[in-house]
Amino acid sequence: MAQEDVFKKLVSHCKEYGFVFPSSDIYDGLGAVYDYGQMGVELKNNIKKYWWDSMVLLHDNIVGIDSAIFMHPTIWKASGHVDAFNDPLIDNKDSKKRYRADVLVEDQLAKYDDKINKEVAKAAKRFGEAFDEQEFRSTNARVLKYQEQRDAVHERFAKALNDNDLTELRQIIVDEEIVCPISGTREWTEVRQFNLMFATEMGSTSDSAMKVYLRPETAQGIFVNYMNVQKSGRMRVPFGIAQIGKAFRNEIVARQFIFRMREFEQMEMQFFVRPGTELDWFRSWKEQRLKWHENLGFGSENYRFHDHDKLAHYANAATDIEFLMPFGFKEVEGIHSRTDFDLAQHEKFSGKNIKYFDPELNQSYVPYVVETSIGVDRMFLSIMAGSYCEEELENGTRVVLKLPAALAPVKLAVLPLVKKDGLAEKAMDIINDLKFHFNCQYDEKDSIGKRYRRQDAIGTPYCITVDHDTLNDNCVTLRNRDTMEQERVAIADLNNIIADRVSITSLLKKLQ
Ligand code: ATP
Repeated sequence: MAQEDVFKKLVSHCKEYGFVFPSSDIYDGLGAVYDYGQMGVELKNNIKKYWWDSMVLLHDNIVGIDSAIFMHPTIWKASGHVDAFNDPLIDNKDSKKRYRADVLVEDQLAKYDDKINKEVAKAAKRFGEAFDEQEFRSTNARVLKYQEQRDAVHERFAKALNDNDLTELRQIIVDEEIVCPISGTREWTEVRQFNLMFATEMGSTSDSAMKVYLRPETAQGIFVNYMNVQKSGRMRVPFGIAQIGKAFRNEIVARQFIFRMREFEQMEMQFFVRPGTELDWFRSWKEQRLKWHENLGFGSENYRFHDHDKLAHYANAATDIEFLMPFGFKEVEGIHSRTDFDLAQHEKFSGKNIKYFDPELNQSYVPYVVETSIGVDRMFLSIMAGSYCEEELENGTRVVLKLPAALAPVKLAVLPLVKKDGLAEKAMDIINDLKFHFNCQYDEKDSIGKRYRRQDAIGTPYCITVDHDTLNDNCVTLRNRDTMEQERVAIADLNNIIADRVSITSLLKKLQ
């Protein structure tokens, strides 16, 4: 199946089974804003818990906060967002469609990669086992030509971004003959900068109203609270502050479902370190974060690091963790060494001394910061994409979400074979016993086969069937989602068998 079709199916699956709905659906939606349904919110909460616990429970030097979305407007001046939180946009004159100029070039680079990979795949097929990929990549004339073209574009692109040279950025689009996917033409406008922050007014009268912003990242709420937390929590550098919360960006091109939204949620952790040690911490957090992702079991080949071509104004090292989505490798998380930029700026703009006194060094300094920043929604999408499977069985196709059990919205479905003869009551007794430990769902409608399919489609790792024998032997049939194997187990053992396999704790233990 083409990857585009997989993506379309995934989007409709999300709606059909209550994971994600377009916002304001009955009014035909609102651009790049989405709501999470009854299944989606459970999965989202589990993702957040996995992240939060891995940060705050497993590290005795990381604590959490929950700061307000509205903040003093000077914060965004100090952080550089008012002046520099821009995306370069370009319009196609024929289709009147707007694009991010940098994304158009990045897509073009990905096309060169695709061409190279196609050559490699073709050769691998032709040569079979004797194929030496490295040798082929370094000697094949066609591959070398594509690589050379790619490197040349990449070099110009990185320079244009670093120099903030919008004319050159446009010229790359023209020289590479990039066309608008809608109109198919190359009639491009100039490239302009566009600020991504949403603004609103706070105050009761128009005279006293103050322009405030909806935060475009949660990080600044951590920076301006760093002293409060350090003092009240008697924290010693190195220490971290974690936060989960909404962020808002007026994205120019908001496509690809929940990958790029205007209202989204971030999980950010700012780690405060001694100046000079930040690059060691940067490497350490890169490793720890990749492990957190790989721990979910989607295969390490589906992740890669992507170092930034252009470092943000505050960073001295930055990388993204990318996941192989149905539309290619895409950023899910950013890891940035932010130097002392933010704290130093807040010290300057607020006029308050926010230096840390290091008792071991007997010295005061503004700590350096390494940040890990991940979008809940992108993580959600990567998990859905990694889990969605269509399997051909003897009696038709089954759609199954092979979600990591600890993240699945429902852990156990309890299904009475028939409604009568006391089986429904027995099933409810089981639920009433287990519901304190994990999320259970009761379903009595349709055939057992259909009920299994419905649970597969929402990723429920276990189903149990209550039958007539259950009334005598107090045993049920336990069915495993992935293997579809069934075993007879005692009701009394259910909690022991299931609870451990579906708990976030089991995931966290594997991280240690
Ligand atoms: P991009 O280059 O895709 O615009 P970014 O580099 O600006 O992303 P960061 O500012 O580093 O993103 O934000 C950290 C994380 O927040 C990203 O890795 C992503 O998971 C998430 N994120 C950022 N923007 C959005 C958005 N518009 N919708 C959903 N998630 C987002």
